[in-house]
Amino acid sequence: MNASNPDDRHEVSFRGLVDLHCHSTASDGSFSPTELAEAAIKSGLSTVALTDHDTVEGVSEFLTACHRVELQGLGGVELSLEHIGTMHLLGLNIDGLSTVPAALEELQAFRRERNKHIVDQLNQLGYQISWEEVLSESGGGQIGRPHFASILVRKGYFKNLDMVFNILLGRGCPAYAHKRRLDPIKGVKAIIDAGWVPILAHPVTIGLTPPRWPDFLRALVENGLVGLEIYHPRHNPETTAFFAKLAQKFGLIPTAGSDFHGLNKPHIPLDWVKTNSHLGRETIELLRARRS
Ligand code: AMP
Ligand code: FE
Ligand code: FE
Ligand code: ZN
Repeated sequence: MNASNPDDRHEVSFRGLVDLHCHSTASDGSFSPTELAEAAIKSGLSTVALTDHDTVEGVSEFLTACHRVELQGLGGVELSLEHIGTMHLLGLNIDGLSTVPAALEELQAFRRERNKHIVDQLNQLGYQISWEEVLSESGGGQIGRPHFASILVRKGYFKNLDMVFNILLGRGCPAYAHKRRLDPIKGVKAIIDAGWVPILAHPVTIGLTPPRWPDFLRALVENGLVGLEIYHPRHNPETTAFFAKLAQKFGLIPTAGSDFHGLNKPHIPLDWVKTNSHLGRETIELLRARRS
């Protein structure tokens, strides 16, 4: 089905617009959890998961706001996993359990360690940026590279966030610092042990060639991976089709995520799933049925 066909759009909105990957100020998004819920309902979304990087700090505020605006809200998280490419794992707390994946504190410590190095390197390169400014920019949430980038743009060093990533903070650039991340199998197990559902996020960023995918996925599936994010702004129709086929082969539930970051990724609208995904609320039931 093509979600840009008007008839299909009607069918999609009937089954609900479901976005299972969004960020807030609890990590590197620019909308507070409350603002996210309020904007999502105005954008016509039915179901939204808050999946901040390595933290669930925003979830309780988000669920309260979702309840108030009558949006189906799900608590979740996006874990950073160890791989030569960028490997992220979404965990969804479909049933509103009070458990939290045990790995979060470890991942937050890895971030703190890395972030200090970034400040030092930026200072050595001649950029005036202090740890206090970074803390204030994050508003107390998990600090990510977009926070450093925003400060540098505001101070006039660069025109936009992309330029900071391309010139300074991206992999291989002078102010880049390695962040320790979680072993992938440990990540999947941490999500399952909490009673949550593990979904591999934006698989294209892992950077594997097509022949390597089956063996790579098999190991994760054997350890309990449940879903594969086939609709994501980083995917094009070909990569989406490739991952849809892999999901089918491995019995993984296909999911859709905008990876909304508000003004920190201004090219991604909050209603991104409306024109880019055909997955409705049934996705949630399929995921729930596979919860360990
Ligand atoms: P970190 O987790 O701190 O290493 O930061 C990675 C985050 O930076 C990703 O999750 C994205 O949200 C963000 N990011 C990566 N590239 C860019 C870019 N070119 N512009 C804005 N944000 C970016
Ligand atoms: Fe991010
Ligand atoms: Fe991600
Ligand atoms: Zn994300």
